[in-house]
Amino acid sequence: MEDKNQSIDLTFLGTGTSTGVPVVACQCEVCTSNDEKDKRLRTSALLKIGDKTIVIDCGPDFRMQMLNNAVSDIDAILFTHAHRDHIAGLDDIRGYNYILNKKIDVFATREVFASLNEQFPYIFNNTRYFGAPQINENLISNQPFDVYGVEVTPIKVWHHKMEVLGFRIKDFTYITDASEIPGKEMNKIKGSRIVVINALRKSHHVSHFSLDEAIEIIKTINPEKAYITHMSHFIGKHEEVEKDLPSNVFLAYDNLHIKIDSNG
Ligand SMILES: [Zn+2]
Ligand SMILES: [Zn+2]
Repeated sequence: MEDKNQSIDLTFLGTGTSTGVPVVACQCEVCTSNDEKDKRLRTSALLKIGDKTIVIDCGPDFRMQMLNNAVSDIDAILFTHAHRDHIAGLDDIRGYNYILNKKIDVFATREVFASLNEQFPYIFNNTRYFGAPQINENLISNQPFDVYGVEVTPIKVWHHKMEVLGFRIKDFTYITDASEIPGKEMNKIKGSRIVVINALRKSHHVSHFSLDEAIEIIKTINPEKAYITHMSHFIGKHEEVEKDLPSNVFLAYDNLHIKIDSNG
C-alpha cells in the first residue's frame, strides 16, 4: 500500500480515561449531560491508510467501538502500553478471526507482550484452546518500524514511571497517557501538522497531563491542529471547555473523524 501521498483517515473510537464518561454511579453535571460529546468510551483510535485498517489500543469498549463505527475488517493493533483500559478488549478480535479467517497483526514492545501473556495466557500458551484469539506477534522497540509499507516512529513518553509509546505516522502524532515527554522524543514530534495528546482534567495529576500542561506542549510543537484525548469527567463539559481553548486546540470526542492529507 506504499504511496507517498496517502492520506490518513483518523476516527476517535474513544476519548475517555480508564473509567469512561459517564462514570458509573456519578451524578455530576458532566456524567449526566445530554450532550453526546460528553459521553466518552475508553481511549482508542482507528486509522485507515490506503487499504489497511489499524487500531491504536484495544480497551474494554473495543467491541462496541467496532460495532458503532461498522468496522468490518481490521489488519493490525498497535499497543501504547498494557494498562487494562488499553488492552482489555483483545479477546473481542475473535469475530475478525472467525468471520474473516485471518490473524490480526499485533505490534507491541517486549514489556507489553509480557503483560499480555500474563493477562491473556490462553492467547499465547501452547495448549491454545479452539476459538482463542489469533494474533501475529510483531515486536517493536523505540525504533521506527514498518506497518504494511508505512513507517511508524515510536515516541517514548512517561506515564509517571511507566514507559508508554506514542506514534508518529507522516505528519500525524498520537500520544496518550503521558505525563512527561523527554526532550529528544519531543524532537521526533516537531513538524507534525496534526497532534493528538492526552489531558485528564484541569488540575495536576501524577500520571497524566493536565489541560494546561497539554496546551503548553502543543504550543511548543505548534501544529496546525491539536486534539485532546483520554479525558475524565473532571475536564468539564465539552462545549464549555472548548470555548476557552487556543484556536488550534480542540477537545476530541467519540466518533470524531478527521482526514489528514499528506504533503508527501
Ligand atoms: Zn489509559
Ligand atoms: Zn461524573
